[in-house]
Amino acid sequence: MEKISNVTVLGGGNMGSQIAFQIAYKGFNVIIYDISADMYSKVIEHLDLLKTIYLREANAAEEDIENAFNNISYSFNLSEAVRNADLTIEAVPEDPATKQQLYTELGRVAPEKTIFTTNSSTMLPSHLMEYTGRPHKFLSLHFSNLLFHCNIAEIMKSTKTDVESFDTVVEFAEAIGMVPIIVKKEQRGYILNSLLMPFMGAASELYLKGVSDVETIDKTWRIATGSPVGPFEMYDIVGLNTIYNIAVNGELKDRLFAQYIKENFLKKGKLGYLSGEGFYKYPKEEGIGRY
Ligand code: NAD
Repeated sequence: MEKISNVTVLGGGNMGSQIAFQIAYKGFNVIIYDISADMYSKVIEHLDLLKTIYLREANAAEEDIENAFNNISYSFNLSEAVRNADLTIEAVPEDPATKQQLYTELGRVAPEKTIFTTNSSTMLPSHLMEYTGRPHKFLSLHFSNLLFHCNIAEIMKSTKTDVESFDTVVEFAEAIGMVPIIVKKEQRGYILNSLLMPFMGAASELYLKGVSDVETIDKTWRIATGSPVGPFEMYDIVGLNTIYNIAVNGELKDRLFAQYIKENFLKKGKLGYLSGEGFYKYPKEEGIGRY
């Protein structure tokens, strides 16, 4: 099995910043690579929020948080970002063209030893593997949002992934405090989203059809099932840009919801929980602990 010491996270948004922080917190060296010009300040904002959460909810010591920050560096240059990478974890937007382009470039510049993983929620490794130039060292490593409490990592290979890369990634997932969930057969949405997406889709349909309002739908679910969050709170946690990217490629009812999200939230800079507002408002001082 290969030893993982240096990890590059590609895309430092909602998921990339959480993934990078958890890995750094567990003592690995992490580089966050992103292309967005304003990425640095956004990532720092996300990491600051995570700091508060880890101190409060994971009983982390200040020193561990400081060490985690010291383990993270940033780069805007892909070849520099992956020069020593044993593993890359890709968390760029859920847009096929963006991922294909990135993998084509990554396959050219990464060292031969590097294992590539994708955190894509809806694309199968088989759909992306040919762009990587190394299908045998490419697989899915899919984290849940709020991964510091919801610590599963779904691991799914394609028909071409080799056993060594797969075993290495399973061992790495355990080493960073995740419970590895082995998905035995390629499945869009893995296990979690295969359950979650139809549930969230049913909620948006009830809302757009005028059957009920956001608060009532969420309240119904919370009270009747004992779940801490309802479907619209879940939309905010997932992030409305990610929801838009998924819904805009779906069936007509999904596309209508995508349009609704764009008009009412994205155009106003309301991206959900991490931006402070989506279907609900999230005052900074309350933090994620609200959940
Ligand atoms: P996001 O929009 O919050 O973050 C994406 C980041 O990628 C941004 O910082 C953006 O600047 C950067 N980026 C864009 N193009 C890039 C490129 N070519 N190279 C490097 N960086 C680039 O998205 P997110 O919600 O973090 O989702 C990222 C991935 O994680 C998606 O594949 C999504 O399906 C998956 N995922 C999301 C969730 C969720 O709940 N949001 C959960 C599990 C998995």
